[in-house]
Amino acid sequence: MTEIHDVVIVGSGPAGWTAAIYTARAGLKPVVLAGAVKSGGALMQTTEVENFPGWPEGIMGPDLMQKFEEQALRFGADMRYEDATSMKLDGEVKEIITDEETYYAKTVILALGSEYKKLGLDGEDELSGKGVSYCATCDGFFFKGHDIAIIGGGDSAVTEAQFLSRFATTVHVIHRRDELRASQIMADRLLANEKVTMHWNSVVESINGEGRLQSLTLRDTVTGDTSELPVTGMFVAIGHEPRTAFISDQIELDDKGFITVAEPSTATSLPGVFACGDVVDSHYQQAITAAGMGCKAALDAEAYLAMLEG
Ligand code: NDP
Repeated sequence: MTEIHDVVIVGSGPAGWTAAIYTARAGLKPVVLAGAVKSGGALMQTTEVENFPGWPEGIMGPDLMQKFEEQALRFGADMRYEDATSMKLDGEVKEIITDEETYYAKTVILALGSEYKKLGLDGEDELSGKGVSYCATCDGFFFKGHDIAIIGGGDSAVTEAQFLSRFATTVHVIHRRDELRASQIMADRLLANEKVTMHWNSVVESINGEGRLQSLTLRDTVTGDTSELPVTGMFVAIGHEPRTAFISDQIELDDKGFITVAEPSTATSLPGVFACGDVVDSHYQQAITAAGMGCKAALDAEAYLAMLEG
C-alpha cells in the first residue's frame, strides 16, 4: 500500500533542517528531500559564519549545516538525497516526485532556498567554470596568485572578496554604486584590505576570453567611459533568486517569485503546504531568520495535522 507521510520537507538549509528537528521531535517522522548533489543549502558555500548565536568564535558554514543535520537525524528525520523534480500540491494528499520515487504527504514544508543571480551577459554561461564562478568557497583555491574580480556590493560580495584575498594577488571589487550595501563591520574590513581595489560606479559591460576568462570590459556609470580589466577569475555575488519556477503554476508567488505566506504564519495559498527560509524571505535572508521560519513551519504543519485528525 502507498505510504502517506505526515510531513515531507523539501530542502535542507537552515529552514529545512530546523523544520526537520521540530517535526521529528514531535514524532511526525519527516521525510527530508535534502538534494541529490548537495545538501545544506547556501551555507555550504559560505566560509565563516560569525553571526549565528551560540558560536562565539564563529563556525564554518558547512560545519554549521552538519550540526543541523546531525540534530535532525538524532530525532529520526528520514533523510533522502534526492531532488524534488515536480510536485502536485493541491488536494488533500500531496505528491512530491523525485527521480527515485513519488512521495505522498498530508503536509509539505517548502524550504527550497534560492540560487545565484546571473549578470545575464554573453559569455557568462560559456565561461562558467573557466574563470566565471558563483562560489568563492568552491573555486577560490584555483586562483592562487591570480588577479580576480568580484561583482556586487552586498554581504556576499564583501565576504567572498575577503576570503578570495587569501589566494589572489589582487581582488578587484566591481560595484555599481559609490557605497557598499554590506554591513558596516564587513565593509570596513574590506576597505582596509590592501589586496582589494575598489571600482566604484562600475558595471561589467562584457566578459572577454576564448575558452577561458581573460578580461572584463568595465563601464563607469557616471562618465560612461569604458576600460579593460585583465582578470582570470570573476566571482558574481549579486544576490539570489528563489527556486520556485517549477511550482509557479500551483502556488501564489510575489512579483519577484518568492512564495507568499499568510504572515505571521508560514501557510501558503494551498492548505497543508507551508514555506520557510529564503524561498519566502527576500528581505532578511539570514541563517537565523530562516531557522526561525523553519520552526514556525513545523509548528504550523503540526497544527494542521492535528486539525485533520479532528
Ligand atoms: P544583496 O541583495 O544584499 O546584494 C546584492 C549586491 O549586488 C548589491 O550590492 C547590488 O547592488 C548588487 N547587484 C544586484 N544586481 C546587480 C546587477 N545586475 N549588476 C551589478 N550589481 C548588482 O545580496 P547578498 O547575496 O550579498 O546578500 C543577501 C542576503 O544575505 C542579505 O540580507 C545579506 O545581509 C545576507 N548575507 C549575510 C552574510 C553575513 O551576515 N555573514 C553573508 C552573506 C549574505 P546595489 O547595492 O546597488 O543594490
